[in-house]
Amino acid sequence: MAQSTMTGIDLLVFGPHPDDRNAFDLQGTLWSRNPDACCNLRKVEPLRRKLSELKGWVTAVRRDQTKNRANTGKVEWDEKFQLVKVNPLADWTTRMVWDYVHKHNVLYNPLHDQNFPSIGCTHCTRAVQAGEDARAGRWAGFQKTECGLHVGPQPATAQLIRIGAD
Ligand code: SF4
Repeated sequence: MAQSTMTGIDLLVFGPHPDDRNAFDLQGTLWSRNPDACCNLRKVEPLRRKLSELKGWVTAVRRDQTKNRANTGKVEWDEKFQLVKVNPLADWTTRMVWDYVHKHNVLYNPLHDQNFPSIGCTHCTRAVQAGEDARAGRWAGFQKTECGLHVGPQPATAQLIRIGAD
């Protein structure tokens, strides 16, 4: 875990356990072979470690982001991580978010102005073309549409990391 301070906000930055990273992705190419396992290694399991210490977490998930998120509640029980999940923006639209950002001069990633409406990791995010879905640039070429933080049990293709991390 690393800690950094930006714009007056303390950030705790988590990553995979070095043993898991060395065991499952020494070359750093897992994303191109098994993105489910890569997300599990780099996102799901590190977050699980932190959330296991907490009683609740707050996310920016919105219903209009993906089909999987269409029924998101503002307050719900997170089966996956076993704690309360609060999604205050669940009923906000993309337009509402951007209106708020511009009105309140909120800092945002400049890639959003370069046709990256949804931004993941460097290797597997590309700019979208005119007419494409907002998340078409995420894991392009794979069926994958979610990193795994906001969905139920991991797909079987991610399990090798889960077993290795236990
Ligand atoms: S978003 Fe891509 S690079 Fe990042 S953890 Fe997932 S598969 Fe790996």
